[in-house]
Amino acid sequence: MREEAGQTAIVVGAGIIGAAIALELQRRGRQVTLIDRDEPGKGASFGNMASIALDFAAGSGPSTWRKIPRWLLDPEGPVWLRPSYALRMLPWFLRFVAAGRPSRLREIEDAGMALSGRALVDFRAMLQTIGAPELMTEEGCLAIYETEAEFAGDRGHLEMMRRYGFEHQVLSGAAARHLEPALSPVVAKAVLLPDNKSIRDPYRLVLKVVDTAKALGADVVSASVRTIERKADGRIAVALEDGRHLEAASVVLAAGVRTRFVAERLGEPIPLETERGYHTQIMRPGISMGYSIIWPHRAFMVTPTAGGIRVGGNVELAGLDAPPDYRRPRVLVRHAQRILPDLKVEEASDWMGHRPALPDTIPVISPSSRVPGVFYATGHGHLGLTYSATTAQLVADMVTGETSAIDMTPFRINRF
Ligand SMILES: Cc1cc2nc3c(=O)[nH]c(=O)nc-3n(C[C@H](O)[C@H](O)[C@H](O)COP(=O)(O)OP(=O)(O)OC[C@H]3O[C@@H](n4cnc5c(N)ncnc54)[C@H](O)[C@@H]3O)c2cc1C
Repeated sequence: MREEAGQTAIVVGAGIIGAAIALELQRRGRQVTLIDRDEPGKGASFGNMASIALDFAAGSGPSTWRKIPRWLLDPEGPVWLRPSYALRMLPWFLRFVAAGRPSRLREIEDAGMALSGRALVDFRAMLQTIGAPELMTEEGCLAIYETEAEFAGDRGHLEMMRRYGFEHQVLSGAAARHLEPALSPVVAKAVLLPDNKSIRDPYRLVLKVVDTAKALGADVVSASVRTIERKADGRIAVALEDGRHLEAASVVLAAGVRTRFVAERLGEPIPLETERGYHTQIMRPGISMGYSIIWPHRAFMVTPTAGGIRVGGNVELAGLDAPPDYRRPRVLVRHAQRILPDLKVEEASDWMGHRPALPDTIPVISPSSRVPGVFYATGHGHLGLTYSATTAQLVADMVTGETSAIDMTPFRINRF
């Protein structure tokens, strides 16, 4: 019956973005097929730092670019560029710099904040739908600073939080240690971000979202999508690498960084790059923590998760195919032990994942500009977990023809 009414939808990619969209479309009466080339949740969504980082929605302006040469020269710095990949990165990097001009930067911030402003409410609603509100912690996040100079260096971020009305509280080192006793006395100052919650197990979250979509009637197919085309009757045909074909009234492309390959074949290239990131999951850390911690100067996080303490972050620019360099997370763990002196590294595992990154740092959440019935949800960069439930609402609005509560212009695909 749904088929007769043209109410079928295919979602490509079962990371947190595609899974959340599949669930929301199924809830809104679409018959959904969710396709992934791998097991659901094994992409970037598997190992992120689990933070609902509402305050992070800033573009990268001159204050960030000025730091980049220093970061690149520092073998322990937060950004690594593999020399063999530098030329490939150049067009993306030029767009990144262009997106940081002051007028554009404010537009980007406004767009990010429009998503952040509703992210927590949408996320809580998604957790209710999957029957797992306990996956979100109630403690917030502590941004920590070792020196006054580090704190001053983060001034732009604090101003941005004030401008957009983000709740935050500046604390002395002693007050921060009162909240989180595992912190070292080297921490001189901190900012408490009470609304930056974290998710106890991001991988389990994806599995629960997929399972709930299935329980509501969605199908999950294991296959790699090759191409997509619109047929004469208006339906969208999806060709799989194994030779099979599926079709539906609408198709949503949410394949993380690999969305760029499908988009290219559709004739609308997107400047999607991978910002590779690492984590070390420490199963026996020897300490317990309530708050997640971010050290802005070193650009990494420490998050308490269901499976121990996770240390990770940073950016490696090396493309999709280069093997992981696990010396990177070692550096992060050393930094973590500086601020958490009793942190032990026993039973630990390392992981590397690909953030789907666009040079202007805001996602594409948009109908295709070429093929009616095709939609994109990709490029969530550092904030895919944070924006997942909100993206699902916005994409479902587009697919079902409802008016979105926010202006979707900044997220259109043809902005590049
Ligand atoms: C180290 C690190 C820390 C992070 N920390 C945070 C954080 O604290 N908070 C936050 O909000 N975000 C964080 N992120 C970012 C976040 O993880 C990503 O933005 C998010 O996971 C992207 O989700 P996705 O569903 O778009 O992509 P993915 O999770 O990568 O999923 C894409 C899926 O598409 C599938 N696929 C690809 N191509 C095809 C094809 N052709 N056919 C079928 N299937 C296909 C893949 O197999 C994959 O399962 C972090 C990322 C990293 C790497």
